[in-house]
Amino acid sequence: KESVMAGENYEDGMHPKEAQDAAEKTALEELQEVRKSLPIYGYREQLLQAVEEHQVLVIVGDTGSGKTTQIPQYLHEAGYTKRGKVGCTQPRRVAAMSVAARVAQEMGVKLGHEVGYSIRFEDCTSDKTVLKYMTDGMLLRELLGEPDLASYSVVIVDEAHERTLSTDILFGLVKDIARFRPDLKLLISSATMDAEKFSDYFDTAPIFSFPGRRYPVEINFTSAPEADYMDAAIVTVLTIHVREPLGDILVFLTGQEEIETAEEILKQRIRGLGTKIRELIICPIYANLPSELQAKIFEPTPEGARKVVLATNIAETSLTIDGIKYVVDPGFSKMKSYNPRTGMESLLITPISKASATQRAGRAGRTSAGKCYRLYTAFNYNNDLEENTVPEVQRTNLASVVLALKSLGIHDLINFDFMDPPPAEALVKALELLFALGALNKLGELTKAGRRMAEFPLDPMLSKMIVVSDKYKCSDEIISIAAMLSVGGSIFYRPKDKQVHADNARMNFHTGNIGDHIALLKVYSSWKETNYSTQWCYENYIQVRSMKRARDIRDQLEGLLERVEIEISSNMNELDSVRKSIVAGFFPHTAKLQKNGSYRTVKHPQTVHIHPNSGLSQVLPRWVVYHELVLTSKEYMRQVTELKPEWLIELAPHYYQRKDVEDDASKKMPKGAGKAAI
Ligand code: ADP
Ligand code: MG
Repeated sequence: KESVMAGENYEDGMHPKEAQDAAEKTALEELQEVRKSLPIYGYREQLLQAVEEHQVLVIVGDTGSGKTTQIPQYLHEAGYTKRGKVGCTQPRRVAAMSVAARVAQEMGVKLGHEVGYSIRFEDCTSDKTVLKYMTDGMLLRELLGEPDLASYSVVIVDEAHERTLSTDILFGLVKDIARFRPDLKLLISSATMDAEKFSDYFDTAPIFSFPGRRYPVEINFTSAPEADYMDAAIVTVLTIHVREPLGDILVFLTGQEEIETAEEILKQRIRGLGTKIRELIICPIYANLPSELQAKIFEPTPEGARKVVLATNIAETSLTIDGIKYVVDPGFSKMKSYNPRTGMESLLITPISKASATQRAGRAGRTSAGKCYRLYTAFNYNNDLEENTVPEVQRTNLASVVLALKSLGIHDLINFDFMDPPPAEALVKALELLFALGALNKLGELTKAGRRMAEFPLDPMLSKMIVVSDKYKCSDEIISIAAMLSVGGSIFYRPKDKQVHADNARMNFHTGNIGDHIALLKVYSSWKETNYSTQWCYENYIQVRSMKRARDIRDQLEGLLERVEIEISSNMNELDSVRKSIVAGFFPHTAKLQKNGSYRTVKHPQTVHIHPNSGLSQVLPRWVVYHELVLTSKEYMRQVTELKPEWLIELAPHYYQRKDVEDDASKKMPKGAGKAAI
């Protein structure tokens, strides 16, 4: 293809290389024109002047006005990168990647060179990188190695309105750093109007706000509540497609599974409508979507066709997709919720706040007038929705940030400068858990194990499992399991038309029935034995992409093992050691079988069930340890492994007493239950 192009241009008297350069230049020039058309462009000089004059600045501008992509470039053009990097944090990994890619394109540089991104388990930066996009969690981890952020000249805490846990913790830390580093510029950027609150928190920092370009959005509510919002969303999309003028549609769903289901149903129904209607291009976007496919949502819609983007909350403010004219808002998102009394964390599909609903509707009016279809009633909106989303710090398990803060030398957590403090109970719970895990001593000081645990960018329970594996000489197996658990997406592939085959393939990894963790380990080591064969993945209904990601993560965990001086040792013949390491990290997550086939968690009793996808869902062992709880129709334990109750006393004597693990064998158990060989 290249030679044809070059040949053609050569006849015009242009050298092939020159022709290519010229083509690139016009593309770049075009992008520069686009940059100049963004609302923020008119405020470039004023903004730069404000940054020059003030150390801390709160910036407010509508979503899509150019804050994330332009401000770092302006700072670069004004010379700030001569003194250090410009870092820009994002609450979501997809946003960090996608925005960095866009900015690299606008600057005409290769991604990872001058412009890069850093997200957990993936560092796409180099020595050259001056504009660095990263998740807020990654900047928090960088602070562990560079407490004064000396390599940065500017830090932008972007999407501040999202108020993620990491962003809130960063607020407290960067505010402090700014006090003793007068040369550091700190920008807090937000898409919503609660700027006063940010300003008050940052010692009355000035607010720089600029108007966006908004077109009117017509809001429609349903007249009666919808019983099934998925179905209602699909019907709405099809109705728009058939009845309304051209313009793309954005649908807000709660997660990957929902999005995949919606995609499938939409495809089917479109086929059913025959060939008379226009083309409908379906683009999914969610956190675990492979990056090659992420770019697809930004491709311009071909003439005469319509695009429908099926997105999670990520499209609410983090990503702006041009050309959206219709928004379908079922009114839900998946949210973490945490019960500090029981220490249980769960992902729940929850009604959104009014602030979220406003943001979502706004997506329809970016380039022209639009319409928003809310799949709930006006009464529902007015009476049931909260004004604002509760900041994550108030509804999550704090163990991981408490461990990070302790390793930063911050001991007095009660007096940490939180913008909105977490419930005291949640802090206490986090300290208790870290003490039980052996990361803190009785005085609340970091132990050697705690120091090692803090090196891993993982939940403290996973880190503990890894650190303990040293003692049981099975670190090799444990980091494979930890990597598989951290992949995010699903490992097993279960196409609708081949479910039986897929389930059989999956059960092959479950022979012996001792648990899902060991099954994950078997998947990983079998794949490794085939020399990471793609063909093998196809044959066994395993997601290739997830496996590659697991391998990446595993490599990094292996590097971290070296850092904390744990030797790689393997003990594949002694799977009890592997299970003991798991229990040593996850002992707070244990449950005991009940007469009716459900389970009761051992501490803070609560009824839970083994997830139907688990290899143990038919086995029902008497005692199990689980990785996480998910609430769908019931409270399910996901990734479950059988354990011996005496291990709880052995591995967590300060947490469990004899009476907790007494096993009354005479009690009647469901037929066939608890028979698995331990
Ligand atoms: P803000 O941060 O103020 O919400 P952004 O800087 O993210 O605004 O977006 C500015 C413009 O850049 C938008 O029109 C958006 O569509 C465009 N944009 C951002 N990322 C990409 C991308 N990866 N591909 C194409 N366009 C993009
Ligand atoms: Mg932005």
